[in-house]
Amino acid sequence: MADPKALYQEVILDHNKKPRNYGALDDASHKAEGHNPLCGDHLTLTLKLDGEQVGAIAFTGESCAICKASASMMTVAVKGKTRADAETLIHEFRDMATGTLDYANTPHHLGRLTVFAGVRDLPTRVKCAILPWHTLHAALNSVTSTSTEAEDDPMHAPIGDA
Ligand code: ZN
Repeated sequence: MADPKALYQEVILDHNKKPRNYGALDDASHKAEGHNPLCGDHLTLTLKLDGEQVGAIAFTGESCAICKASASMMTVAVKGKTRADAETLIHEFRDMATGTLDYANTPHHLGRLTVFAGVRDLPTRVKCAILPWHTLHAALNSVTSTSTEAEDDPMHAPIGDA
C-alpha cells in the first residue's frame, strides 16, 4: 500500500499541473458559480446533460490547490454518469470529507477520490475540497450561484432527499 499522504500530495500536484476538463463549454445546458469566501476559491462550472447523462463538464476559476484538484477529479468522476449517480457521488464525497462516512468500512463509489479523505482532519480545507461538489449540485438543480457560507452550506444542510 502506498503512503496515503504521499499519494494525496502526488494527486493534488498532478491535477494542479494538468487540470482535467479545464475551461468552459459553449453549449452548456447547466451552469453554476461557487464561492468559498473563507479561502477565496471561486469556480465556474458548465455542464451539458444528454438526457439524464452528464455528456460533458468543464470548470474554470481561481482557487487553491485542493479546490482545483477536487474540481478536476470531480469532472473526471461524473462525466458519463447519470444525474442520479452524480448526486450519489456528491453525497458520498461530502460525507467522506466531513468525516461522517466511514469510507473504509462502508460501500461507496468514490474510487480514487478517497485521496481527499484526509481533509476531514483539516477543518479549514474541508470547504475547499467540497466547493466543486457543492457547485455541481447547484448546477444540476439549476441554481446559478452558491456559496459555502450560504444557508445551503453543505456542512450543515442535507443535500437532496437523502
Ligand atoms: Zn481553498
